[in-house]
Amino acid sequence: MRESFLPFSKPSISEEEIDAVAQVLRSGWITTGPKTSEFEESFARYCGAGAGVALCSATAGMHLLLKALNIGPGDEVITPSMTWVSTVNMIVLCGATPVFADIDRDNLMVTAESIKPCITERTRLIVPVHFAGAAADMDPIRQLCAEKSIALVEDAAHAAGTEYKQQKIGAIGTTIFSFHPIKNITTGEGGMFCSDDSVLLDTIRRLKFHGLGVDAYDRKSQGRSPQAEVLEPGYKYNLTDIASVLGIGQLKRLDDFIAGRAELAARYHQLLAEVDEIMPLAVPDYDIRHAWHLFIVRLDTERAGMSRNSFMEQLKAKNIGTGIHFLAAHTQKYYRESRKDLLGTLPNTEWNSARICSLPLFPAMTVEDVEDVVQAVKEVLRK
Ligand SMILES: *Cc1c(COP(=O)(O)O)cnc(C)c1O
Repeated sequence: MRESFLPFSKPSISEEEIDAVAQVLRSGWITTGPKTSEFEESFARYCGAGAGVALCSATAGMHLLLKALNIGPGDEVITPSMTWVSTVNMIVLCGATPVFADIDRDNLMVTAESIKPCITERTRLIVPVHFAGAAADMDPIRQLCAEKSIALVEDAAHAAGTEYKQQKIGAIGTTIFSFHPIKNITTGEGGMFCSDDSVLLDTIRRLKFHGLGVDAYDRKSQGRSPQAEVLEPGYKYNLTDIASVLGIGQLKRLDDFIAGRAELAARYHQLLAEVDEIMPLAVPDYDIRHAWHLFIVRLDTERAGMSRNSFMEQLKAKNIGTGIHFLAAHTQKYYRESRKDLLGTLPNTEWNSARICSLPLFPAMTVEDVEDVVQAVKEVLRK
């Protein structure tokens, strides 16, 4: 058995990044400023996005988008229930109704076919999730949204560096990224709202900082004009320069992180091929570059004779950390009780919600660590 605990995720922070953060701390300017502008510009350039607006989280980005689109009571937003619950919470907190599209059983993503039956005359927005570092099949989804004139935002919390048909996620339309510590790059906490819609970007910039006017974030001036006026009540969702400078360093290493993750994922696939009770997610057959944010497997609970939770506990006893991404939103207490109509209506989501488990995957892991994980998995299953 491993002597030290292997967490399922761990950020990779370099000494150079720590020095850069220290420099910002010593500089006299620590909140949103030149480093944040630089991070926004370099991230947008990396993705090929029109522009980026740095925020304190992806959740904040979703909240601002719903507000920018004036989505509220009577409106419906289509999203998977197999997502981080923050999206669903924001929809509900805005007074709108989440409508859940079921997912592909083997890659956990919504498709144009699964979205189509959810569309009504009240549908205002569709939020597909690029899952685990793969990309959802966007061409048919984009076409569907264009045909029905429904807004589309891609949840790219797992997809920094992911490509779909030779283009980075973020290059087209409106996309929200997360820099929470488990994501492919981190700023401690943080997010990036990317879009090619300059009117929408202006609204997001205004709403993320109290609703102040456009001159308030003039990139050329240091700080904010004291004369800036509130144009509408806004929020306080800006990212600090302390966080942004970390993001600048992390972004430079993103492609290396992905290469390291891909190598570990390939080793997992090799070793797990002979473990019948374990089914890794399927990699989509359309053209993508997978960013390998997570390595998710499904436990064949019938064959293994144990629940997913018991499997995870036994792995933990063997010093292997795991995670669940995610428990379906509609199965969690608040939604289970407030939306009793939904249980049983999303078969692929519910099947996976009871069986998925994320195995350790982070850039500083070694191939030997992967071998330790698979060894522990085999021991747990053979007992
Ligand atoms: C992490 C995550 C979010 C939220 O990101 P935050 O930056 O923590 O707000 C949203 N959606 C998905 C799919 C996520 O994994």
